Amino acid sequence: MPDTSITDRVGPSPVFDNSYARLPERLFARLPPTPVSAPRLLRLNTALAQRLGLDPAWLASPAGVAMLAGNQVPPGADPIAQAYAGHQFGHFNPGLGDGRAILIGEVVAPDGARRDIQLKGSGPTPFSRRGDGRAAVGPVLREYIISEAMAAFGIPTTRALAAVATGDHVFREDALPGAVLTRVASSHIRVGTFQYFAARRDPDALRVLLDYAIARHDPAAAEAANPAAAFLEGVARRQADLVAQWMLVGFIHGVMNTDNCAVSGETIDYGPCAFLDTYHPETVYSSIDQQGRYAYGNQPGIAHWNLARLAECLLPLIDDNEEASLEQANAALSGFAPRFGSAWRDGLLRKVGLTAAQDGDEDLLQDLMVRMAANEADFTLTFRRLADAAEGEAGDPAVRSLFTDPAAYDSWAVVWRARLSQEPPGRAAAMRSVNPAYIPRNHLVEEALSSAVLRDDLTPFEDLLTVLARPFEDQPGSDRYALPPRPEERVTATFCGT
Ligand code: AMP
Ligand code: MG
Repeated sequence: MPDTSITDRVGPSPVFDNSYARLPERLFARLPPTPVSAPRLLRLNTALAQRLGLDPAWLASPAGVAMLAGNQVPPGADPIAQAYAGHQFGHFNPGLGDGRAILIGEVVAPDGARRDIQLKGSGPTPFSRRGDGRAAVGPVLREYIISEAMAAFGIPTTRALAAVATGDHVFREDALPGAVLTRVASSHIRVGTFQYFAARRDPDALRVLLDYAIARHDPAAAEAANPAAAFLEGVARRQADLVAQWMLVGFIHGVMNTDNCAVSGETIDYGPCAFLDTYHPETVYSSIDQQGRYAYGNQPGIAHWNLARLAECLLPLIDDNEEASLEQANAALSGFAPRFGSAWRDGLLRKVGLTAAQDGDEDLLQDLMVRMAANEADFTLTFRRLADAAEGEAGDPAVRSLFTDPAAYDSWAVVWRARLSQEPPGRAAAMRSVNPAYIPRNHLVEEALSSAVLRDDLTPFEDLLTVLARPFEDQPGSDRYALPPRPEERVTATFCGT
């Protein structure tokens, strides 16, 4: 709950400046959110509000909660649902769009950064198809927890500003309590946004969208010899870095459809995503991903595939000559694999305490990963405890006990220690700063959500958020948040829960 002392001094409502809503009408549908019965603030992200230059006291006030619930459109907002298309599990759908979200407006934070303020679960739109436009409390709090954990890891992501219970039910397999999430993003432009206009053979809209995206995300590309190719290259760079960062903390997005791939390079659309407990590259949690398309280890290949779909949309904007255009697009995309490779390798090196790569390091890393997979080692704890082992052999038992065959660690550790001895001292602290002690483990997330949904008790949700806000610091008394699930607690499948 928000700090009640802040509600004493209610400041002004947000100042909106809605650049996307000023674009041509065919990029979106203009409509307000649909009001709900009984809005109740479940969580306000006070720190984020302050960073955005928004007044937390106003947001927590009746007028603020009415905005966050979609019951009142504040002055200066210009609510729209954005149009987009997308490849879903490889199949193209030319008409998706915000079926249950409304961009109420943009704010420019004191740091000068423009941010979208979007309500998710805010009622039907012209893009709803057969959906009800709503969201349930469980998935809303799930996105809240995981997106805020990603932010605390320092990984680019949309943020959660607030969660509001609606007082209405949403009907899925059961009747569930409804909620609205306020999502903050540096924009909601997706690969699928470009696909929407490419599918409609609307080069004018594509041009407008490209110019807008460049101005918002990559102003330097406007000065490049070929702005469209430079933009593509930038998106590829951001996606390569993003997916490497995901994988370095064991994150599986779960639904890397092109409509869930933001050109800003932020992680977007937290559905059936999950973090690895035991490491295996083929791990899939999402119950809708039957083929394992979006398995942990497939993520770089899928990101590259998504970028190729973006490239197809941009071809007519790169060059009138088809061959020349293809050549430039391929050149832009060719940066992805090496960029991902070095981000991944450098990240793994830091995770095991090494600063600059030497010959043989890739084998050392590869060997560790193979042994972890074969021995069902917990991804997060292995790296976290390696920091203790870097301080001395007294740290070894806690690492080796994570391997089904502890000897698999011992023989690797001999080689690792010899290599580590060539590094400057103080490696353990550096390792702890990149290897989180705490991740949103699936069983902890499920525990927090079921308590909120079934018992209306938000204490486990709040406690989990508190621990995850400082994931790299050991927090006394928080051991249970660091531990993997016991066999009976193990979560093997996550549901989209839309
Ligand atoms: P997602 O799986 O959340 O990325 O959503 C894919 C598409 O389905 C998007 O166009 C969403 O707006 C739409 N969608 C998902 N859930 C609903 C819902 N409950 N009502 C309307 N549209 C929805
Ligand atoms: Mg989506």
